Amino acid sequence: MSNRDPSLDWHALKTDEVLKRLEVDEHGLKSPDAEQRLQDVGPNRLPETARTGPIRRFLLQFHNVLIYVLIAAAIGTAFLGHWLDTGVILGVVLINAIIGHIQEGKAEKALDAIRQMLSPKAQVLRDGQRRSIPAEELVPGDIVYLQAGDRVPADLRLTGAHNMRIDEAALTGESVASEKQTAPVEPEADLGDRVSMAYSGTLIAFGQGRGVVIGTGADTEIGRISTMIGEVETLTTPLLRQIAQFGRWLSVAIGILAAATFAFGFWVRDYDLVETFLAAVSLAVAAIPEGLPAIMTITLAIGVQRMAARHAIIRRLPAVETLGSVTTICSDKTGTLTRNEMTVKSIVTTGAEYELTGVGYEPHGGITRDGQEADPESDPLLAEILRGILLCNDAEVYPKDDAWTMEGDPTEGALITAAMKGGLDPKEVNERYARDDVIPFESSYKFMATLHHDHEGGAFVFLKGAPERVLAVCSHQRTADGEEPLDAEHWQQWMDGVAARGQRLLALATRRMEDHRRELEFADIEDGGLTLVAVCGIIDPPREEAIKAVAHCQEAGIRVKMITGDHGVTARAIADELGIRTEGGVVVGHELENATDEELKEQVRHVDVFARATPEHKLRLVRAIQSHHEVVAMTGDGVNDAPALKRADVGIAMGIKGTEAAREASEMVLADDNFASIANAVEEGRTVYDNLKKAILFLLPTNGGQAFTIVAAILLGLTLPLTPVQVLWVNMVTAVTLALALAFEPTEPGVMQRPPRPPRTPLLSGFLIWRVGFVSALLVAGTFGHFLWLEQQGVTDEFARTVAINTLVMGQLFFLFNSRYILEPSCNREGLFGSRPVLIAVGALILLQGLFTYAPPLQFLFGTTAIGLEEWGRILVFGIVLFTFVELEKAFLRRRGFNPHR
Ligand code: ATP
Repeated sequence: MSNRDPSLDWHALKTDEVLKRLEVDEHGLKSPDAEQRLQDVGPNRLPETARTGPIRRFLLQFHNVLIYVLIAAAIGTAFLGHWLDTGVILGVVLINAIIGHIQEGKAEKALDAIRQMLSPKAQVLRDGQRRSIPAEELVPGDIVYLQAGDRVPADLRLTGAHNMRIDEAALTGESVASEKQTAPVEPEADLGDRVSMAYSGTLIAFGQGRGVVIGTGADTEIGRISTMIGEVETLTTPLLRQIAQFGRWLSVAIGILAAATFAFGFWVRDYDLVETFLAAVSLAVAAIPEGLPAIMTITLAIGVQRMAARHAIIRRLPAVETLGSVTTICSDKTGTLTRNEMTVKSIVTTGAEYELTGVGYEPHGGITRDGQEADPESDPLLAEILRGILLCNDAEVYPKDDAWTMEGDPTEGALITAAMKGGLDPKEVNERYARDDVIPFESSYKFMATLHHDHEGGAFVFLKGAPERVLAVCSHQRTADGEEPLDAEHWQQWMDGVAARGQRLLALATRRMEDHRRELEFADIEDGGLTLVAVCGIIDPPREEAIKAVAHCQEAGIRVKMITGDHGVTARAIADELGIRTEGGVVVGHELENATDEELKEQVRHVDVFARATPEHKLRLVRAIQSHHEVVAMTGDGVNDAPALKRADVGIAMGIKGTEAAREASEMVLADDNFASIANAVEEGRTVYDNLKKAILFLLPTNGGQAFTIVAAILLGLTLPLTPVQVLWVNMVTAVTLALALAFEPTEPGVMQRPPRPPRTPLLSGFLIWRVGFVSALLVAGTFGHFLWLEQQGVTDEFARTVAINTLVMGQLFFLFNSRYILEPSCNREGLFGSRPVLIAVGALILLQGLFTYAPPLQFLFGTTAIGLEEWGRILVFGIVLFTFVELEKAFLRRRGFNPHR
């Protein structure tokens, strides 16, 4: 393969010369050959950007206000000669950093795995067949198909280009898409002028084409100028930023409080310097919720992973939160709400109606006319129809592992199957009537046309598309023995009847062209004068799961709107089957076009079905819906959908049939193109938000409880119930064991029965402050009360402290069960035993507290001592009391009809 020289001027070579040099013919590479080349040149992938290295990432763990406070405390204690405290503080700082590092690494890995799921595919010709393969497996010599919305997967020398324009801004900075063609250009041409080339990473803005791979991976233009692949996303969302901000303010406030405490203790209470300093440090350590950011990040990563398992792949993390407050979902119909397994059921001509049997892409079944088998051999009109739908077609239907599968557009796949049911052989027909040119299908103009010539040199066009588009350019209709002027009325009636049964309609027309014509232009169609041949009725049944998902969404206070390119009557029939509201009527494309923005705003209030809509309409619709302060999720798949996807609060692209352009404009990608996955993602989005809230509701009272215990002791001038290192211990064990368990909480029952969360609800709601204050008070009462009581009994400080700490931690342990549900009761089987992570965390915590209390090395480090059964008994009673109090609080709020999610 010495000819695969990257410095070669491929753009200046003729296409046959290119193919020769790359040792490939018009049937594409042979599989073994492609494999060999892949081994030789390696995968088609750019080297990854250098990420933040592990050491730097580890060091970043120390870049945190709390850690600075702790380090200051360590220096302070060292200065005062309390070496043991210094050692423990530094030890804890280190352990915290290690745990943070490991957990962050795990979260990153989870996200990486999800990014992998989004890796692009490419359409290639191998062994004479068109197949979709991972773009990474492309090798030089592969013949690649391109169409609007694709990202060019490798550097290509174009061998075919129809109206193809490529946006090369990624490479040249030029924002106007450049028109492509196949003829060689000057060897000296600049990158931007090499119109016979398509470069990796650029975006097909329009049209379609074909090219042969001349460079892959780092051996491409983009590979040469940079090794960057997209931006590496940081693990954050608006809520997390809000928390981080909150954390910073809290730290400052706590710093001031600690200083005030120091001043008060030293001057008013006459504590000695060392003791006051330690008290102030304890307070700072106690009050700062250091575990919170890590728990939040993990909760988010777990949420994203769960969504991926349910086929919703998050591309931008903030979408996780936005999903929970979505109020309107605008969905495409075909493939998302319906199965996209199309079958042609009927074909009607001027004088006859044909029925087709069989389902799916399997070409088994027959074609009947008035109950009699119809045979194209003896029915020339039927033969022409089948030929037309076969030729004006880019799909392929073939048997694979005992089943028939389809590559390409399902509507077209269905047409091929229909033609095969009539006994036609796609390969033979395509060879006999070679295609010279094509106007590819676009949902903005809703038709496709192809130009062919037969062996005798006669040229003709086939046009297929949305009936009103096709009828508009037809002047005649085909009859069994010729043609007659078009009777639009007749067709309209038949079509309304078929569409009302939910079938989609597709019309076929034809016209002869001058024999020398080898190129097709829009004007050839739009100037009219075509002859209508037939109209096909195609079924595409709704997905069962979509019907359920629509109902779920409606229960969850989310309005589902269908925006489809299909016929109004078909759209209404399918909407009815799906349970989408049609009482408000159906608005079709041209009505949308004529409506002013104000009228549209009014329409979207009561209309849920929009038909014959184009991508431009989608953008206007999103804007109109958003003007009512709705949070909109919108699906899309084509390159023209990108603006609407960007504009929507959550843009959702299709993973299977969607273009790369749509994916890149979206926040989320559906791996299975299924509407039900959107509903699931909303459910998971609400769950993540709940879990984030639960983590806050759980952790803040620990800090509150500890901080107020210390403040109370200082105000009363008593011995400190917790030393700084003990406080550190408590924070560490509760954050890494107990709170972490909440990140795994499953969805609460009833999540999809409540209305969407209003966006921008403040994090610190009145309810949150109340619950934190209430539980903090209970914890202070238990911990401090127990401590004081023991001090009065005359026990040692170590003993009283050990009991106090265990009281606090066990109180937390019981509170963890309360925290599993924000308002629902936890005192049941599911609440107490339903979560494995919670049970594991509880087990781990009991073990840790056992060691803390009884293991001599820990006793030495933390100044603890063994305590007796009697103490444990009282601790247990306290835990149960706390649990009961919180359950009573929940019951009280439930009875008052309080909604904690607002
Ligand atoms: P949705 O927007 O909900 O996915 P859709 O797939 O029906 O719906 P479009 O793809 O815009 O929307 O199709 C609109 C119409 O164009 C169809 O009703 C059909 O009549 C026609 N059409 C669809 N696919 C093709 C095709 N490959 N060739 C010619 N005409 C087509």
